[in-house]
Amino acid sequence: MSLIGHFIAGEVVTDAPRTLPVYNPATGESNKTVAVADSATVERAIEVAQAAFPAWRNTPPMKRARVMYRFKELLEANADKIVAMITDEHGKVLDDARGELMRGIEVVEYACGAPELLKGEHSKNAGPAIDAWSEFQPLGVVAGITPFNFPAMVPLWMYPMALVCGNTFILKPSERDPSAPLFIAQLLKEAGLPDGVFNVVNGDKEAVDTLLSDPRIEAVSFVGSTPVAESVYRTACNHGKRCQALGGAKNHAIVMPDADADDAADALMGAAYGSAGERCMAISVVVAVGEDTADTIVEKLKSRIAGLKVGPGTDASHDMGPLITQAHQQRVASYIDRCESEGAELVCDGRQYSVPGHEGGYFLGASLFDRVKPGMSIYEDEIFGPALCVVRVDSLQEGMKLIDDHEYGNGTCIFTRDGEAARFFTDNIKVGMVGVNVPLPVPVASQSFGGWKRSLFGDLSIYGPDAVRFYTRRKTITQRWPSSGLREGAAFSFPSSK
Ligand code: NAD
Repeated sequence: MSLIGHFIAGEVVTDAPRTLPVYNPATGESNKTVAVADSATVERAIEVAQAAFPAWRNTPPMKRARVMYRFKELLEANADKIVAMITDEHGKVLDDARGELMRGIEVVEYACGAPELLKGEHSKNAGPAIDAWSEFQPLGVVAGITPFNFPAMVPLWMYPMALVCGNTFILKPSERDPSAPLFIAQLLKEAGLPDGVFNVVNGDKEAVDTLLSDPRIEAVSFVGSTPVAESVYRTACNHGKRCQALGGAKNHAIVMPDADADDAADALMGAAYGSAGERCMAISVVVAVGEDTADTIVEKLKSRIAGLKVGPGTDASHDMGPLITQAHQQRVASYIDRCESEGAELVCDGRQYSVPGHEGGYFLGASLFDRVKPGMSIYEDEIFGPALCVVRVDSLQEGMKLIDDHEYGNGTCIFTRDGEAARFFTDNIKVGMVGVNVPLPVPVASQSFGGWKRSLFGDLSIYGPDAVRFYTRRKTITQRWPSSGLREGAAFSFPSSK
């Protein structure tokens, strides 16, 4: 058994009053445990991050960016190792793990523009001989709490931007796949980041609760399920902290009658079943406009599902790996159990999927539910597994109303050849990230990522330009240097430019 520790003050620390097992979901076996931080360990990390803040705050943005340049090179040089760690503990196929790492590296690349991003805003002659400008000042110690499904990418959505803005950072990664974030922390040190500027504490609710209540933590970025996101947001706000908390999703794809059905079916296969459906941007509902469109898309999906290769992520021929835990595998299976009793049609049944030689692995095949309706739990809940619903509607407007009425508003897309329909959709739909013939519309690093409704609590999205706003505090300075000719005496009216 090896023990995965914390990273505090530039050292791996293995203090562990409690530990939790870390599984390989492709085998169901565990030969690692992860240290679970108690309040004392978290408080030590906060103390270290607070002590490192003054020097890091005063480090020129260009020098902070140079650390990111070296960090990017180290991430690329160690990509095979990181990807293997992700697949070992998460289960996703190696190519998919590489994709998540590359999307994380893109945020590091964007963070390299820190000198440009932080140069502020200036108004020369805002008044007579008066100049005014706004600066973006760092907040202090900030924390990030991340989910299991992207153990490298989601932390990388947060700390490269927080660090180049001059903050120090404490990451609390998912306890289910903690190796990659811990390894990456050591690369930051190798890239030249001063000790204490970036720290990792592994753990669960106890560690999170300590971060949320400690007055030395200025801001919290959270990504995870909606119930936890909402509770983290409320608690952080009650403690006077700035918070952005990204939650769950139920992403719908509209397929219009004029769409290329083969292209749409191919795109939907990857978007629904890639990473075993454990993506916050996964498509989990197909909204087919018209009965003919629905019949065609269901047939095309059915034949593609028959050819889907499910097995350990380490085998490059596989399309989809296992679910994260046995409990989650059983939860997803319980929705398949309910499909027919709720009145939907079970077109493909992914239960009892066994991979020879990996009988202990948490595998499910792909499931497809047709004639799904609002009100059914398979429609309302985020299943977060390889299960795709098909809802049949008569018009684009009816499909859009379904999407608007759903509690989540993370991502959505439309497959069509009609520009007018696409424009109407992008203009009016109540969802934060929208694709047109793009099934996973994950914004690039120079845009910001965030959903609407109960998919995001807070005002600012993650990474991109919003991250500069989130991880800094604006200070506006109005200045003049009076010379003898400018002296005006006391003025009692409110200052204005006369
Ligand atoms: P989760 O909510 O169970 O856990 C997320 C983090 O919160 C983990 O670090 C975990 O240790 C911690 N945590 C769990 N329960 C807690 C509690 N009661 N109090 C305090 N902290 C707690 O989520 P998960 O299962 O790891 O990840 C899957 C979820 O994340 C899905 O709902 C998915 O949609 C969502 N997600 C959303 C986005 C997005 O950008 N909106 C991205 C990725 C994942």
